[in-house]
This record gives sequence, structure tokens and C-alpha cells, in this order.
Amino acid sequence: MLAGVDIGGTATEVVLCTADLGVIDRLAVPTPADGGGAAMVAAALDTLRLLLDRTPGRLLGVGVGAAGVVDARAGWILVASDSFRDWAGFPVTATVEEALGVPAYLDNDVNAFLRGEVARGAVAGERHAFGMTLGTGVGGALWLDGGLYDGPHGAAGEIGHVPGFGDLRCTCGGRGHLETLASGRSIAARYAERTGRRATARRVAEAAALGDPDACAVYETAGAAVARAILVTAGLLDITTFVIGGGVSRAWALLEPSVRRTLTADPPVSGQPIRVLPAHLGSDAVAVGAASRARAELTTVTRV
Ligand SMILES: [Zn+2]
Repeated sequence: MLAGVDIGGTATEVVLCTADLGVIDRLAVPTPADGGGAAMVAAALDTLRLLLDRTPGRLLGVGVGAAGVVDARAGWILVASDSFRDWAGFPVTATVEEALGVPAYLDNDVNAFLRGEVARGAVAGERHAFGMTLGTGVGGALWLDGGLYDGPHGAAGEIGHVPGFGDLRCTCGGRGHLETLASGRSIAARYAERTGRRATARRVAEAAALGDPDACAVYETAGAAVARAILVTAGLLDITTFVIGGGVSRAWALLEPSVRRTLTADPPVSGQPIRVLPAHLGSDAVAVGAASRARAELTTVTRV
């Protein structure tokens, strides 16, 4: 068996998988984000031990997906958001390996999301794909020639923070980034600007479904921005398969019309059709993707 762990800002999900990445069992617990790295990894390990206690089988390896900038080779966190205490610098894989006695691997959560969707999800088996997560922020990940490409600095695919999407101030300090139009936080903010009403992105989606014109306009703008990011990526890399995940993508029915309209209005010069798919694995994607990293690393040594 392989284990996958998704350490998010509010919840930590652990899955146990078969060697072909079918989920056998899963458990989610709150992330003790203000307790520091040791408490967060301990919570994940306790959860994994509960799963192992109720499932017969031998654990071969563990993959961990975590928010922030990570060193995927050395297995520790480089940069974490303010919502995590004592997380940057924490040696995640060394701690897991010492506790369990099996190899462990660490990935950025967006990269793990795409690994999951390529392994068992909406873009299963694709050799080239781009993954975008529309959550609190906007993330991106690149799957090239059958493998994850994370670039010389681990930041390839960071589509959320490229400019060209207006002039609004971004959470990162920049201006006009995709994230200012397409993240959950931005959808809430853009709706509040238009109406003076505070609402979460989910509430804005509910209002749009009931025909609220301001809510519809905010989702339409988000969809058009996502499509422009897709067109830039398709033009640059000749990738034509895209998978969109994250909480905002649950309102895919609201995003899809403006995504399609924008793609149709400005098709890539290659003439190749672009496929844009909503994510398939839901809240399992990061954990299953992290497990698939463990499988890939282990199969380069021996057959799992
Ligand atoms: Zn930004």
C-alpha cells in the first residue's frame, strides 16, 4: 500500500491506496496550523496510523502534498504562508521516514493535485497537461512529456501570478495578476466592489445561479481570465489539455460558458482544439497525487 497526505491550511487528508492508486480508505482531520510543523506532521502521522490499524497490508511509502514553496528533492518546506507557524524550514520527509521507517516524498500541493489528476483523474494517462487550481489563491502545474516539470527554481506553472489581467493589486504585492480575478478571495472581493455586499465565492455562485447579474458578471470575468491564461499556456507550450480544480471550480457551470467563448474567439495558432476539464478527484486529488509521486520514485528503484 501507499499513503498520500494532503496538508492544507484548514484540513489534513490522508488516504491509503493500492499500488495502482485506488483509494482504499481516507480520513480528514483539522490541520493544527498554529501548532507548528511538528504538530502538523504529528497530526498527519496519527491519522495515517489509524488508517493502517484498520487496513491489513504493508506500507511501502508515503507522499506528502503541502501548500507553499517546497524543496521537492530535499523534502522540506522553503516558504510558507502566514497562516502556518514554524512551517518554513520544517524537514517533512525526514520526520515521516523516522516515524514510519519507509521512504517519504514531498510535493507542492498544486503539483500533487496535477499528479493525482494525471494518475487517476480527469486527465488520466495524458503525456502533456496543465493543471490550474482556483482556490483561496490561483495555482498552476505543468505535466510535460509524461512527467512533472517544476523548473530550475521549483516555480514552473505559477500562472496565478503572471500579469496582464487588469490593474488590481494582488495578494503577492504585484498588479493585474490572474489571481485578482479568478481566486475565491478575488471573486468575493470583486462582488463586494460591485454591490457593497460581503459574500464568500460560494455564496456568489449561489446568487449567480439564481440570476443575480453582478454575481454572473464576476464569474464571467473569472472564466474569461482563466481562458486567456489557458491560451497563453497553449501558445507557449503547445499543450492542449487543461484540468481545473480548487473550490471555485465547483461552480464550473458558471465558469464554463465564458471559458468556451473566449477560447473560441481566439483559438491557438496551431489550430489544435483545446480541452478544458473540471477536476475529477475532488478533495482526494492532492493526497492521491502525493501517493503517485511515492509510487513513481519507488518504481524507479524496484517494482511496486
Ligand atoms: Zn500575484
